[in-house]
Amino acid sequence: MKTIAWIGLGFMGIPMSKHMMNAGYTVKGVDIDPVARENAAKNGVQVCATVAEACQGVDAVFTMLPTGTEVKEVLAGPDGVFASIKPEAVVIDCSTIGIENARSLHASAKRAGRIFAEAPVSGGTEGAIDGTLTFMIGCEDPHVARVKELLAPMGEYVAHAGGPEAGQAAKVVNNLIMGVCVAVNCEATALAERLGLNLKEFFEIAIRSTADNWTFRVWNPGEGVVPSSPASKGYKAGFKTWLLAKDLTLAMDAGREVGATIATAEAAHAILKNHIDKGGADLDATSLVLTLKEEAEKAAPQKAIA
Ligand code: NAD
Repeated sequence: MKTIAWIGLGFMGIPMSKHMMNAGYTVKGVDIDPVARENAAKNGVQVCATVAEACQGVDAVFTMLPTGTEVKEVLAGPDGVFASIKPEAVVIDCSTIGIENARSLHASAKRAGRIFAEAPVSGGTEGAIDGTLTFMIGCEDPHVARVKELLAPMGEYVAHAGGPEAGQAAKVVNNLIMGVCVAVNCEATALAERLGLNLKEFFEIAIRSTADNWTFRVWNPGEGVVPSSPASKGYKAGFKTWLLAKDLTLAMDAGREVGATIATAEAAHAILKNHIDKGGADLDATSLVLTLKEEAEKAAPQKAIA
């Protein structure tokens, strides 16, 4: 039986590591949050106190952490993953960290003589729970087959996007589209409500019309419209607002690097940032609709149509 280490046992890491255990891997896990550690232990993860301890003798290490800052610290820092694993082990980062951080990590792995792949994911917590994630691998050709085999228990579509940085590039572009969709779905929902539309009926219209999009169907911002959506569960994440704002920042950075226009990402980021400043950082990103509704109410209380 093979053993892996899993660092970062949050909304995504918990269900993803569970699929690895179901596929027969022994999982040693690390998280800085005691609640995450407790949930992971309940799931069957052997919780370790340090990254170095978790890495002892494992065949592969996965990271599923918030941003590039934590991933670089955990992988390339002193007593980190690269310093603690055996040379033939594979290190796969599934977090969304952007192109520049991926570049830096591939360079650190090369210096340390370690095998590293980026494999960011799409599909949300729903895809993580169902084992139907899409993976976007960025790594050197000789490692692709091993990386794909390791990801197979958690994904429905495991793609080799290309060499180093290509996985993050694909993810950044995907989340530019997704983030803008979430923002516009929230804007549309706030407007629809102000115009007196029945949100459930509008949902049925939109999913059969040109407005249809994945985030509208799965993460609909209207309370009670889609029973399984974060909006119907008090806007509890799901996908935290600050993580979505981070992803749009990564798209803006990428756009600047290559001279591409990303004006809609900038606009979506600005309204998410405003929502974060009003206390929405850790709520699901679709809670943006609450700030938009509040602002509309303040701007034109008399304009709402009953
Ligand atoms: P999360 O905040 O629920 O989980 C992150 C976990 O990492 C937390 O439990 C936190 O305590 C832990 N952590 C932070 N720093 C650490 C450190 N130094 N050492 C060990 N543990 C540490 O976030 P999430 O929703 O699981 O997202 C993780 C990554 O996946 C992010 O990059 C996010 O953008 C990406 N992502 C999320 C979704 C989603 O729908 N939630 C979908 C696709 C991709």
